[in-house]
Amino acid sequence: MKTKTHMIVPVFIPHLGCPYRCVFCNQTDITGNQGRADEKKLDATLTTYLGETPPDQLPPNREVAFYGGSFTGLPAKRQENLLKQVQPWVQKGLVSAIRLSTHPLYIDEGRLVLLKQYGVRTIELGIQSTDPEVLELSGRPCPWETVKSAVKLIRKNGFRLGLQLMSGLPGDTEETFLESVDDVISLKPDFARLYPTLVIRHTELFQLYQEGEFTPWSLDFTVDVLSDAIQKFSAEQIPVIRLGLHPDPSMLENLVAGPYHPSLRYLVDCRIGLNEMVDRIRQIKKVNGTVKFKVPSKRISVYIGHKRKNIETLKKMFRLENVILQPERNCDRLRLIA
Ligand code: SF4
Repeated sequence: MKTKTHMIVPVFIPHLGCPYRCVFCNQTDITGNQGRADEKKLDATLTTYLGETPPDQLPPNREVAFYGGSFTGLPAKRQENLLKQVQPWVQKGLVSAIRLSTHPLYIDEGRLVLLKQYGVRTIELGIQSTDPEVLELSGRPCPWETVKSAVKLIRKNGFRLGLQLMSGLPGDTEETFLESVDDVISLKPDFARLYPTLVIRHTELFQLYQEGEFTPWSLDFTVDVLSDAIQKFSAEQIPVIRLGLHPDPSMLENLVAGPYHPSLRYLVDCRIGLNEMVDRIRQIKKVNGTVKFKVPSKRISVYIGHKRKNIETLKKMFRLENVILQPERNCDRLRLIA
């Protein structure tokens, strides 16, 4: 069995410090009530995750993560109090790092000095889109210049940087989303997270959806666009560490519409697998009834596709009788052999 090397202790700060209410956002319902960052609950959360298991049975890397609001938008004193509370756990060696997410509007030298002082190692910025119209329609205008200077300061101060984007926001198209992806890549983050827009109850987007003013992207279209996005990120060696919202019970209860799937990453990887096979077949002049590929054994399932969909699609597309996938342990990439 693979041993877990990393553990996240999630501490949610729903909407705290937010500069505005983005139309899609209801942090309270997507994160539930666990691990809120009020000072009393914070200690209880740390104890639940770290205090009840002998340290030698915990994964070696243990990170406290402040998520769900704009941490650096909180008053400085509040930020300091929260970070201070984690320090005894750091000193006991139970917490190895702290990470947080915030808004680019709230990054400056003063704020970063405070974060550094308390051992924050990673900062994630919610970018969501770089298209001014999409941002405006989503209720979160933010000039690109602000994003760039926030990123520059974060880098200059030696933090790890993560950037988050959303697909299918109001006014977003395949084109604007992929442009946002290119913009984010140009900032060279250490990692990215991609979230398709979902309609969650108690949000402005829910209202727009009910009034017929907003239509979420379909799952199929989302998978298609995200597969292009993932390929762009991997071409630049930028890991996409999360695709889609975590299936928190509270989020699922409040989910009304949109491209949610519990295995979204797998669906996207299958689509990438399908695209690769289509490209290879297109390179052959004449296709005679059967095609045969050698595939890395570890990735065979993404070539077969969810419920064998890739095989069936190839058969239909190229009028094939048979598609044979031969798994090979030493094969590092897809090869068309017949
Ligand atoms: S998306 Fe971020 S900035 Fe916007 S309301 Fe939600 S937590 Fe606040």
